[in-house]
This record gives sequence, structure tokens and C-alpha cells, in this order.
Amino acid sequence: MLELKNITKDYVVGDLVVPALRGVSLKFRKNEFVSILGPSGCGKTTILNIIGGLDRYTSGDLLIDNKSTKSFRDQDWDGYRNNVIGFVFQNYNLISHLNILDNVEMALSLSGINAKERKERATKVLTEVGLKDHLTKKPNQLSGGQQQRIAVARAIVNRPEVLLLDEPLGALDLKLRRQMQIELKRIQTEVGITFIHVTHDQEEAMTMADTIAVMNQGKIEQMGSATDLYEAPKTAFV
Ligand code: ADP
Ligand code: MG
Repeated sequence: MLELKNITKDYVVGDLVVPALRGVSLKFRKNEFVSILGPSGCGKTTILNIIGGLDRYTSGDLLIDNKSTKSFRDQDWDGYRNNVIGFVFQNYNLISHLNILDNVEMALSLSGINAKERKERATKVLTEVGLKDHLTKKPNQLSGGQQQRIAVARAIVNRPEVLLLDEPLGALDLKLRRQMQIELKRIQTEVGITFIHVTHDQEEAMTMADTIAVMNQGKIEQMGSATDLYEAPKTAFV
């Protein structure tokens, strides 16, 4: 699986160095749902981009199946992004003139799978996220929550080992967000993919995560289950 070892990331802007990550160590288990919880600007997107191979760390190491990535070349990162990682962003980046099935099939178009199997796999994954009855609709004919499910379906149709979700429900109103939290958790449990999710919403992390990593100013401050972190131990007085 994946492990971050004392990762730092500095952004250089002109003469200014912005330390976005200040030594982050994290280890992920197979099929785990991890939420990284912290305020805006604390470095959540930076961590996801580094885990996803979209951006490079300044120091430390990212281990993939116990292998260092320090000497990774661009083609190694490409292979890793294509084979191991899926992404879901806050704005779903769906293609509005394609129907839902085609939006998901697109993600398979580079993988050498024939048209029949592409359709079968896209249909299967859209069924898993609860959109079986909407395959031929266009994205804008569906609600925000349903659109986010398409984005999830598109990201998992290649069966990545790890799905990265950057504030995936941030654009939804509160009621829909609470519904989709339960839905995303269900999908993760059913498909058996490691989810690494970032949010600034404590309740969202508590609803979905097996493990919450609490982040502040570029560091992980605490880690544990929702019960470990937020619910006081219940003492029975008899
Ligand atoms: P979050 O996702 O938790 O809101 P980010 O990871 O986006 O936080 O940002 C962490 C810090 O790094 C912030 O201070 C932000 O301003 C800075 N930062 C992020 N991206 C860049 C960039 N491309 N160039 C310079 N600074 C950046
Ligand atoms: Mg962010």
C-alpha cells in the first residue's frame, strides 16, 4: 500500500517560500477509508496531489508497496497514476454533451478494452453507485448528488487501488451532503477500494472514515477513529 514518510512540500513564489507540508507521515491500509480533516489552507489538497503523483514532494519519501519513489521518472509516475490511483474533485468535470454512460466509458477508452466490455463495465459501475436508471441522461438532467456519483463511477471504473477525493461533497447543500456521505461510505465498502478523502467538515469525516487524520498548518496533529478522537469515553457509575 502507500506510505508517506516525513513528506515536506515548499511552494516557491518569487522570492517567497511557502511551506505547505511540514513533515507528514501517514500509512494507509488496504480497503481503509481515511479522512484528512483540517481548515482551509492547511495543506489537504497538496497532500492529495502528492499522493496522486500530480505534484512532487520537496523532501521525505512516498513508498508504494514498500518501494521508494525518490528515483521515479515521469513515466513511472504516469504508470502509477494510470494503474493505482483514481481522482474525484469538488467540481465533477463531467462532459456535458455526453450521456452518463459515455462519460464513464471515456475513462476506459485508453485502456485497450473493446466497446462491448467498456459498456458492460460502465453499466456495472453505474449500477453500483445507484444510477442504473439514468444511463442515457445527460449530466445536467441529474441533481448535484447524482452528478457526484457519476464522477465516482468514472473514477472507479478502472478499479484503482486508491481513490483520492478532494472535498467531494463541498458543492452540495447540507441535506444532500449528509445523504451522499452515507452513500459514498456504502460504495467504498462494497467496491473495496481504499478511499483517501479530505474535508474541512468534522461531521463528514466522522460519518465516513475508519481513520481520521487531523491536520493543521501542514502537519498531522492527531490520528484515530471518530470515537478515539471526538467521543469522550463513557464511564459507567454503578
Ligand atoms: P487546503 O487544500 O487544505 O485548503 P492547500 O494544500 O491548497 O490547502 O494549500 C496549502 C498551502 O499552500 C496554502 O498556504 C496555499 O496558499 C499554499 N499553496 C497551495 N498551492 C500553491 C501553489 N501552487 N503555489 C503557491 N502556494 C500554494
Ligand atoms: Mg483544498
